[in-house]
Amino acid sequence: MAIEVVIPMLGITAEKGKILKWLKKEGDFVKKGEPIFELETDKVVTEVESPASGTLKKILVREDIEVPILTVVGIITEKGEELPERYSGITPETPLPNLAIPEFPGTSISSVPSISPAEGFFDVAIIGAGPGGYVAAIRAAQMGARVLLVEKDEIGGTCLNRGCIPTKCFLSDAKIYNKVRNSDIFFNGSEITIDLKKMVSRKNKVVETLKHGVSMLLESQKVTLVKGVGKFLDPKRIEVSLNGEVQVYSAKNAIIATGSLAASLPSIKVDGQKILSSDEVIHLKEIPQNILIVGGGVIGVEFASIFNYLGTKVKILEMLPYIISTEDDEVIRALRFLLEKQGIEILTEAKVLNASHSKKKIELTIDRKGRQERVSGEKVLMAVGRIQHTKDLNLDKIGIQMERGFIKVNSRMETNIDGIYAIGDVIGKMMLAHAASEEGIVAIENLMGKVCEINYERVPNCIYTFPEVASVGLNEAEAKRRGYGIQVGKFPYLKNGKALAIGESEGFVKIIAEKELGQILGVHILGENATDLIGECLLAINLEASVEDLGEVIKGHPTISETVKEAALDWQGLAIHMPKQSKA
Ligand SMILES: Cc1cc2nc3c(=O)[nH]c(=O)nc-3n(C[C@H](O)[C@H](O)[C@H](O)COP(=O)(O)OP(=O)(O)OC[C@H]3O[C@@H](n4cnc5c(N)ncnc54)[C@H](O)[C@@H]3O)c2cc1C
Repeated sequence: MAIEVVIPMLGITAEKGKILKWLKKEGDFVKKGEPIFELETDKVVTEVESPASGTLKKILVREDIEVPILTVVGIITEKGEELPERYSGITPETPLPNLAIPEFPGTSISSVPSISPAEGFFDVAIIGAGPGGYVAAIRAAQMGARVLLVEKDEIGGTCLNRGCIPTKCFLSDAKIYNKVRNSDIFFNGSEITIDLKKMVSRKNKVVETLKHGVSMLLESQKVTLVKGVGKFLDPKRIEVSLNGEVQVYSAKNAIIATGSLAASLPSIKVDGQKILSSDEVIHLKEIPQNILIVGGGVIGVEFASIFNYLGTKVKILEMLPYIISTEDDEVIRALRFLLEKQGIEILTEAKVLNASHSKKKIELTIDRKGRQERVSGEKVLMAVGRIQHTKDLNLDKIGIQMERGFIKVNSRMETNIDGIYAIGDVIGKMMLAHAASEEGIVAIENLMGKVCEINYERVPNCIYTFPEVASVGLNEAEAKRRGYGIQVGKFPYLKNGKALAIGESEGFVKIIAEKELGQILGVHILGENATDLIGECLLAINLEASVEDLGEVIKGHPTISETVKEAALDWQGLAIHMPKQSKA
């Protein structure tokens, strides 16, 4: 098959390039990876490598002409292969509009010439550069694919710009503030203040550093990153528009990684002023005196922890009988107890019906077991879940099947349309950044010819409260429901030297293992560094280590990870730092 040689994208800002020197002439044999021409852009002068081995059958653009990035400049054919008909009339002297793409990033679609450099060029086009899309792009490039990554907003998606990373910056600052404020070692009763502006600027710096890092990674992997809104024209062609300019790209495969948007209730509109979603709350200019958080799921309890430690009076309103309702019952109860002890008010079985504004506050009507009540606050944070983000994609036209409001995929991330995959929040399985990344890798490996699937029982759940929650595998109720004979090992943080030394002694590690063989079915941790500790438990599960194996690992002292070993030993009745149980 004839391969097109193009002017590569050497950075997101470069728009044009000039071939300074062809290092091969027509008819020469070139090896994949061998330098084929010298290129100059406004950023660099560099040698460009051949994308394939074969004969340089035709040079389409001569030296010293500036052409847009991605212009096809030459054709490589296999041994004995003829030049495809469509290139035969073109010579290096042909005026540019007839042989190259329009000005990058694009003139109108009607002016896309018949020979688009994008056509047949990309092995995979990925729409959305969040943790699903950018990780998929890197893995695809590592496997030798030619990758197009389309992003309409910022690299890193929700996770980097509005989710995981901003909240962790705020959690860290809030924790320090709370610790100092409540310590008679550091605080003598005079004032400690929070400079919210500085907090936000620190967060912004972290986000920018990480975004820059991801851009550099993509650039180093030679991923073609295009800014604009991606939309399917058909399963093999994607239109990208930016400020009215349109460009069309072709790819053999596509991955939809467009993520999710914050949801609200039909009766309550997010206004960005008093009623906020997680997107707006991270831009608050002042710390509110009090806040109502609608939803006691992962995002709700995380913001509750941040605001509570910053000194805001927090009330969580949760429709279900429990907060973080998918976790192990014991963890749910213990977290609620600890959050309430810290001063967070939690109303469960509280269904929010509507909102009404007054000048200073906002009032919510709630239904509690058939009785209507009113609660009021300065701000309301809607944390009632997220919906798929597919509105620009034209999915109806290409016939993508949906399921419960999200894109339907199989365990290989394939949609119902051949060659189109979907990953991350847009498929609504586990709406977590690391799940999106793993789904991205699974999609790429499948489309590159490997067969692999994701096992959601080996994806950890991490909740960033004070203290943290982390879990993997089955909770106790689910293990019993599936008919396992189980035994539980548990160890409290209170008996761990490091936890006491650092003043973080609340919580426990709970290991659920099959009674006879010690197969680890689930691990549930509530406590400091739970989200890091769960990693070693996952490793044990992935390597099919038994609970006894976990108990044999020698841990550094003092470390919080000793709690995992002790919980594993407790499963065997052998925990060292637990008093001997008297037999009844
Ligand atoms: C407040 C908050 C805190 C969170 N904290 C955590 C956490 O601590 N840990 C964790 O694992 N998860 C966390 N999450 C969830 C995590 O952010 C998401 O699961 C993750 O970002 C999903 O990744 P994704 O790649 O599927 O989508 P996204 O990150 O949403 O990225 C999708 C990208 O696609 C782009 N896009 C959409 N449509 C188009 C189009 N038509 N053309 C071009 N581009 C398009 C969007 O602009 C976006 O950049 C948090 C979420 C929130 C809201």
